[in-house]
Amino acid sequence: MAYEITRDYISFGNARSGEKLKEVKFIVSHSTGNPGSTAYANRNYFNNHQPYASAHTFIDDRYILEIIPLDEKAWHVLYSKPTDNRMFGADANDAAIGVELCYGGNINFTEAYNRYVWYHAYLCQKFNLDPSKHIVSHRTLDPERRTDPLDAFRLYGITWDGFISDVSRMLESSQSLKNRASQVPSTFLRLPLKIGDRGPFVKEVQEDLIRAGFPLPKYGADGIFGEETERAVMAFQKQYGLHIDGLVGRETLTKLTEVVKSKLYNEEFPLPNKVLKRGDTGEDVKMVQRALKHLNFDPKDIDGIYGKKTENAVRRFQSMYAALKDDGIYGPNTRKFMKMELQQK
Ligand SMILES: [Zn+2]
Repeated sequence: MAYEITRDYISFGNARSGEKLKEVKFIVSHSTGNPGSTAYANRNYFNNHQPYASAHTFIDDRYILEIIPLDEKAWHVLYSKPTDNRMFGADANDAAIGVELCYGGNINFTEAYNRYVWYHAYLCQKFNLDPSKHIVSHRTLDPERRTDPLDAFRLYGITWDGFISDVSRMLESSQSLKNRASQVPSTFLRLPLKIGDRGPFVKEVQEDLIRAGFPLPKYGADGIFGEETERAVMAFQKQYGLHIDGLVGRETLTKLTEVVKSKLYNEEFPLPNKVLKRGDTGEDVKMVQRALKHLNFDPKDIDGIYGKKTENAVRRFQSMYAALKDDGIYGPNTRKFMKMELQQK
């Protein structure tokens, strides 16, 4: 084998039920929600926090780390999403392997990406899958909430199609599955994107501009970088204090990804910007309760009543951070740390 696979499974809990995966019909490609976190940092997080979420394998520049056995289920796509059923006749959690790319920070992207490509090819061989049919991005399955792994790819100029063809090539030369893969993918895009460019990568960027609040009323996300797109890019650059040149380079892409991500998660778990404490009631309290539950500090009832259980849940959350007072009162500091944790989930 070209790369070593490390099997270091997390303990049983919310993240690992031990339920058997009967058949592997496809692969869902992800990238971690927390750039800069390594494969082992993720393993530790899932092992210690045991959120109701997980994936089988985390890959960085040093490890291909399987944290859940491939014959067990992991929780990496919401059951309520219909696209996996439409495409594969099954829910991803019941019929797919979830693979996460770790990137950003000190992680060497090329090393991590080569392992990620190799591992997808390895899975295709092992489960007799076709890369062009049986690999799907999390973004495709859950477009309202997720952008991975395309958001990570694009920072390094890789398109989804480029990734699939890298996997296919790797699989075709079965030799490279045995020998250490040394070739650098040949599908790197040339950044910056600019007026006149076209293709799926342009379309992704346009979709994200729209999501970020910079509409393209005339042409929409048509995959063609025209004047309307250029104007939207410049408006985006202006709003976020970037150099205004209408070109989509690394800096603009990074910011765009960040803005879209924060919009997506803010919509998912909005947190009220006020002080709440025992005795308060209403929709704001419910928001806090929902977020606490998502972070595994379960307030038991999502009833909009800031009672003893909610106060205790807030206190348990606060006790995790030296910077927070464990007073059971939800305020700006607690909000800040909750937002940080939500972003990492
Ligand atoms: Zn994902």
